[in-house]
Amino acid sequence: MTKITLENISHSYDGGKTWAVTDINLVFESGRRYALLGPSGCGKTTILKIICGALRPTKGQVYFNDVNVTDYPPERRNVAIVFQFPVVYRMSVLKNLLFPLMNVDIPKTEKLKKAYHVAELLGIKNLLDKPAHRLGLADKQRVSIGRALVRDVDVILLDEPMSSIEPDKRYELKRLLMEISKDMKKTMIFVTHDQTEALTFGEKIAVMSANGRLLQFGTFEEIYHSPAHEFVGFFIGFPGMNIIEGRVIKEGVDLGPFKLTLKERKLPLRIGEEVKVGIRPEHVRIALSQTEGYIPFDVVYMEDLGRRSTILHLRNQNVLIKARISEEVAGISKVWIKIPEEYVIFFDRSGRRVA
Ligand code: ATP
Repeated sequence: MTKITLENISHSYDGGKTWAVTDINLVFESGRRYALLGPSGCGKTTILKIICGALRPTKGQVYFNDVNVTDYPPERRNVAIVFQFPVVYRMSVLKNLLFPLMNVDIPKTEKLKKAYHVAELLGIKNLLDKPAHRLGLADKQRVSIGRALVRDVDVILLDEPMSSIEPDKRYELKRLLMEISKDMKKTMIFVTHDQTEALTFGEKIAVMSANGRLLQFGTFEEIYHSPAHEFVGFFIGFPGMNIIEGRVIKEGVDLGPFKLTLKERKLPLRIGEEVKVGIRPEHVRIALSQTEGYIPFDVVYMEDLGRRSTILHLRNQNVLIKARISEEVAGISKVWIKIPEEYVIFFDRSGRRVA
């Protein structure tokens, strides 16, 4: 059972000129599933390398339970890492599974028992005598996960483990990993830039910005409905949150061609200050005819997502908004919209949530 704590972690590969990750504070509880989500180059792999001991952070400390392991080499950490491209040896699946136990001082029968047990769990028992390097990518990935499991590691780090395997086999592999984490109480940290994978795998998700900062660490509910930063709102969702720039006025926010009047909410900003209004496409109210309190918008484009779901791309002067509707709306060129105050998230100029 291992709880992992990252405390004020920053890392530079070039002696402090640029920073791959900055001031990361995260706690991964023992036996739970986590996802690290962010765009390419945001430092996800760097964090995994710091956790497994392949990289010593330039600043900050790593704790396993309450032990400071920052200077421990990988072999003292009992962590396995599964990569995007599965690593298997040119030998049978059984020999691959036995390989990590080569220097472990237990009887051969015990080693075989472990290998068979793991093969059973991973559904690869029928492949045990097959050459591992000739298997398909999804089966190879099962073998490489199996090599981590025979070692009885407490922590499994998964670096984009699905992206190289056949799309139709990804769901099954993800389900298997989730089951293993639950039944065997393994702490799993799954790195991905695919929000669906992150949100369906992680009990909590760490969302990172392109410049290597942690923007939010929370459950799907928290991240989707209460983004702590403009980028989180925009990055998560199909499509992401609308972000409309405006200025604070006495009665609410001036958005240029129209005003958002606030009756319930108070903004912790001064009149005249910049503010960004975040609203999810499914929360924008739409009327197909002129309606009191609604603002006219031109329909620029209609994106049919199937199953009675359409994204309307709307424009009023310089304000662009996407709205999701479930009615049949062929051939409309104008709609009226309302932004309901209760669903709006407000961000300041820097993108930080303020209300
Ligand atoms: P991806 O999703 O593309 O794998 P990532 O989020 O995992 O990206 P990292 O691989 O951790 O990001 O890289 C973070 C930053 O550090 C990037 O700017 C990258 O170019 C840089 N970087 C990573 N490894 C090295 C290295 N060995 N030497 C120098 N710079 C590096």
